[in-house]
Amino acid sequence: MAGEMRPLPVPTPETKHFWDGTRAGELRLQRCDDCRHTYFPPRPFCSKCASRKVSIVRSSGRARRFSYVIHHRPAPGFTPPYAISVVELEEGPRMMSNIVGCPQTPEALVLDMPLEVTFERQTDAITLPSSSPPAAGEAYMRPGTVAVVGAAETTDLGVIPNLSQIQLHADAALNALKDAGLKPSDIDGVATAGEAPTTVASTSASRRPGSTAPRSVAVRS
Ligand SMILES: [Zn+2]
Repeated sequence: MAGEMRPLPVPTPETKHFWDGTRAGELRLQRCDDCRHTYFPPRPFCSKCASRKVSIVRSSGRARRFSYVIHHRPAPGFTPPYAISVVELEEGPRMMSNIVGCPQTPEALVLDMPLEVTFERQTDAITLPSSSPPAAGEAYMRPGTVAVVGAAETTDLGVIPNLSQIQLHADAALNALKDAGLKPSDIDGVATAGEAPTTVASTSASRRPGSTAPRSVAVRS
């Protein structure tokens, strides 16, 4: 229950470097000296080739949400609902994590959203790692994968009764491409601000009168 202390881990010889790291504000992983595999959770041999020649390395702390559930039952130290997530670290390993700093709702907890590790001191001995969305203006992109290259609104602004939402999204996307000097064949997809095309397609059959003009950005990987 909220107010009660959440259960805390007890460091072992195998996990001591990890808990020493969180106490120092570092997320520490292990990497095989033979095959270079980086792994988690801690163990004294490589999880890929079983070599015992392993080194401790510091994670960048950057991750993406891989999967999650929202837990609605009370538990010591937690106020439901709260998310239990699996995050994928930039270095490759996945780990269980709570997500802090955002509402614990499906709308806010988007799969693949960028996260960064944060640390919450529990006792003198134990500091727990959690994940949170990057602060505004600090969102990052995985190098070489995605770039925002153009932004635009629909050609006509305001209420446009003779065009469906999908048509408006397409118009805004084409304008965003033009803004970036690109063709539709240059990109993998678009992101839109406003009502999502999938929502429109499933609820209104693209015939909603008085559609509001959306904005759009073109993205290229
Ligand atoms: Zn190995």
